[in-house]
Amino acid sequence: MDCIFCKIKAGEIPAQIVYRDDEIIAFRDINPKAPSHLLVIPNRHIETLADLKEEDTNMIGRLVLVANQIASEEGFSENGYRLVMNCREHGGQEVYHLHLHLLGGRQMMWPPG
Ligand code: AMP
Repeated sequence: MDCIFCKIKAGEIPAQIVYRDDEIIAFRDINPKAPSHLLVIPNRHIETLADLKEEDTNMIGRLVLVANQIASEEGFSENGYRLVMNCREHGGQEVYHLHLHLLGGRQMMWPPG
């Protein structure tokens, strides 16, 4: 599988993994856009948001709960943070393995570019 995030999950590419269970892993983004920038991903290779199916409902909810937990552990939950999922070309998606960006540690701007 020629997927960079599948390789991180398999331990074939190094990453700073902060959370792991049988469904989800989370690790630090290599090119952080905020003081804290983490990626929360399903272990299963799903390419984009648009590929989600009914049976993924629980997993996608758990991605958000894991992100919330990490925000608390990292100490920026109280000040607030941003969750982002980019979908396909116009969404700015670069890695085609579904991922939730968790950004914290600074004031976010709106709207994004
Ligand atoms: P997106 O544009 O939503 O697909 O975001 C992909 C993210 O993956 C970007 O923020 C990249 O910095 C990040 N990224 C790419 N390669 C790695 C890697 N090897 N380890 C950690 N993060 C990565």
